[in-house]
Amino acid sequence: MSEREKDAEPTMLSPDDAFAVLGNETRMEILRTLGEADGALSFSELRDRVGMRDSGQFNYHLDKVQDHFVTLTDDGYRLRQAGNRVIQAVLSGALTEAPVLEPTEIDSPCIYCGASTVVSVREGHVRHYCSECSGTYGTATLPPVSSGENGTREQVEDDDLGYLGGMVFPPAGIQGRTPTEVFEAGFLWATLELLATGRGVCPRCSAPIERSLRICEEHDTGGRVCERCGNRHAVICRARCPNCTQSSHIPFVLLCLSDPDVLAFVTDHGLDPLQEWSALEWTEEVERTDPFEAQFACSIDDDVLGFTVDDSLEVVEVTRNRNR
Ligand SMILES: [Zn+2]
Ligand SMILES: [Zn+2]
Ligand SMILES: [Zn+2]
Repeated sequence: MSEREKDAEPTMLSPDDAFAVLGNETRMEILRTLGEADGALSFSELRDRVGMRDSGQFNYHLDKVQDHFVTLTDDGYRLRQAGNRVIQAVLSGALTEAPVLEPTEIDSPCIYCGASTVVSVREGHVRHYCSECSGTYGTATLPPVSSGENGTREQVEDDDLGYLGGMVFPPAGIQGRTPTEVFEAGFLWATLELLATGRGVCPRCSAPIERSLRICEEHDTGGRVCERCGNRHAVICRARCPNCTQSSHIPFVLLCLSDPDVLAFVTDHGLDPLQEWSALEWTEEVERTDPFEAQFACSIDDDVLGFTVDDSLEVVEVTRNRNR
């Protein structure tokens, strides 16, 4: 057993060192075994389960992951939080699997035109399309059918559909769900990310997120996608995490869902704020670009919640008008 101080604070590790440490089968197997164990494991239990006879060799690899990913306690070896995160990423399938769901019609009408919608999964993204209108982001051409057993596209004949939005979704989220359930779970997952991003917290690593705006100054929508910017919304927020690789472009007005007044407005109308907020209609009016100031509103029927956002990109004033 190592002479190290028991349960010492984890060491700092550079990203290069982390890749070097984890790029080894035995070390990953040590993390996986500890992740699956009910409690701490002794040196010999751990070595037996990993299935390595050579005690010296095993000790060498264990030493590499110890301190940062694995800790030695009075009861034996356990995963540290960093080791847990590595194993969670592997088990979510994010690193190992790439399931495909060919575009399939689902039981969820388009929020703009009420036509049927289509969901597809490819390369870790769930994508949602309208079969009739140009969606939120304009017409998109579906990728060709992938080869393999499930490579058929029986339900969706048209290759050009209106793109309603997409979200990153780990492969584990696709297993055991129908296409409609995949969409619903993906929507919930995306909403949670939206709420975190709206409050300035990176949904991947929790670091403070940087936000900037891209504004279409000659925005022109007649209830459809603007031809100039290819978007239904004129004010787009680029949310970028300076710590990890997370980066997204989101209509700014949708980020305002995270404002407590907007969440309360949704709840007030008997809607689930995590799953049914797409029933809101959003409007935007840019007053000034420098410094930025805009009037946004969301409405349900004739109940309107208006809010002003200034250069701080925070909601600074809220008004409610039931009979506009
Ligand atoms: Zn539509
Ligand atoms: Zn991050
Ligand atoms: Zn535009």
